[in-house]
Amino acid sequence: MEHSADGLEQLSVVRRCFESGKTRSLSWRKSQLKALQRLLVEREKDIFRVLKEDLGKHQAEAFRDEVGFLGKSVDYHIANLDKWVTPTKISIPLLGFPSTAQLVQEPLGVVLVLSTWNFPIALSLEPLIGAISAGNAVVIKPSELAPSSSAFLATNIPLFMDNEAVKVIQGGPDMGEKLLGHKWDKIFFTGSPRVGRVVMTAAAKHLTPVTLELGGKSPCIVDSISGSGDREVMVKRIIGGKWGSCNGQACLAIDYLLVEEKFTTTLVDLLKTTMKTLVSEPEHISKIVNKHHFERLCSLLDDPLVASSVVHGGSIDHEKMYIEPTILIDPPLNSEIMVREIFGPLLPIITLKKIEDSIDFIKGRPKPLVIYAFTNNEALKKKIVEETSSGGITFNDTLIQYVCDTIPFGGIGQSGFGKYHGKFSFDTFSHGKPVVRRSFLTEFSFRYPPWDEDKLQLLRYCYKFDYLRIILHYLGLKKY
Ligand code: NAD
Repeated sequence: MEHSADGLEQLSVVRRCFESGKTRSLSWRKSQLKALQRLLVEREKDIFRVLKEDLGKHQAEAFRDEVGFLGKSVDYHIANLDKWVTPTKISIPLLGFPSTAQLVQEPLGVVLVLSTWNFPIALSLEPLIGAISAGNAVVIKPSELAPSSSAFLATNIPLFMDNEAVKVIQGGPDMGEKLLGHKWDKIFFTGSPRVGRVVMTAAAKHLTPVTLELGGKSPCIVDSISGSGDREVMVKRIIGGKWGSCNGQACLAIDYLLVEEKFTTTLVDLLKTTMKTLVSEPEHISKIVNKHHFERLCSLLDDPLVASSVVHGGSIDHEKMYIEPTILIDPPLNSEIMVREIFGPLLPIITLKKIEDSIDFIKGRPKPLVIYAFTNNEALKKKIVEETSSGGITFNDTLIQYVCDTIPFGGIGQSGFGKYHGKFSFDTFSHGKPVVRRSFLTEFSFRYPPWDEDKLQLLRYCYKFDYLRIILHYLGLKKY
């Protein structure tokens, strides 16, 4: 084995494996996807256990957001892979006649996946699915902040998958930096904008393409939906979008609500009533990941002006590192809670004179990963779609977009760039290579110097696909 100054000799094994061509074969890709499927089925209980240890996730939540989500994703890739790898036909302009062209998908090479702790299995394996599907070799570094999940991946991936082509390397920022010191063909990063910048800087050295799946403050516009049935559903969906998935520690969690002043009291009452049935028992919501994040969240409430804006919850159990699901109304806009991504169980409500003001509010801040909006007002929906910019928009629900393989997932601006899930994952880890096949049948001399006005005119016709004018021109029946 070759020696490497940083002890990462195994990277050369992965590189050689990719260069051997093994990962390109369709049968290898399918066998690896099936192996992953087996891992998810046979190790389901272990995954539930590690997610409980790291994040206190209930099995149902763990299945919905990680095991089940991944199983569905693998199935989708296996079902569609033949179609995705088939070269697609490209049309050629007249200047290239006669010829054919195809878009042929080729793998990028050796991919580095750096993932984070809040969905430690899903955010490591969902990129892996796309990377394998596209025929790459992969190195994954899971997050050190979910140690049981990270150890689970490091132990089990080698038991199920091809050891030369897929490696899990455990460690924290130091290991991340070491890995970034190597040359990769693609880096897929999920995490904070701060480390996203570190990743891009390292990638620039080798001109390595990157996908950055970052976070930010995702707003939820709440219009005064009429009809008590619809309001009940809306409130459940808001609660699900804040506390129902990793207790607000999700990139797609609602960060804050934007509500018309006159609807605020009604909404808070509805939220309080429904929260009693959905999220009042700590064992049904995930725990705060660690002391650092617990203290970070507590410190958001230390600001007296923020503390005085709490209208529900707010109690803290330091021993159990538990923060009650908390609602705040109009904390100062320049306070930490309204400037930084909250990533926890605190939900500020910002009141507005008119619900339409929400658009300027959002436009005045960095582009979020998602905008949620509850409204049946079609004119407002249109305005939100046309006037705001975000990774995506979901009307009248939360989080649901994430589990749809047909919907691309990714951010814009501060919330990242690049997209994945389903076919978008395959594309993210592939290079669509155009292959042009020319014949020697015809040759247009007007493509070459020496130039004259006649050639210029023929070139004009050519780019306009104007067969008729070219024929007339050659027959001497039509001059420019
Ligand atoms: P982070 O950026 O601190 O860490 C992410 C990964 O990078 C970890 O594996 C970590 O070990 C590694 N890392 C940290 N410092 C590094 C360095 N200097 N060099 C190389 N690697 C380094 O992420 P975090 O703060 O733990 O995660 C929370 C953030 O992730 C939030 O902003 C959240 O919104 C975002 N997030 C985004 C998505 C998404 O899909 N868009 C999903 C989950 C979380």
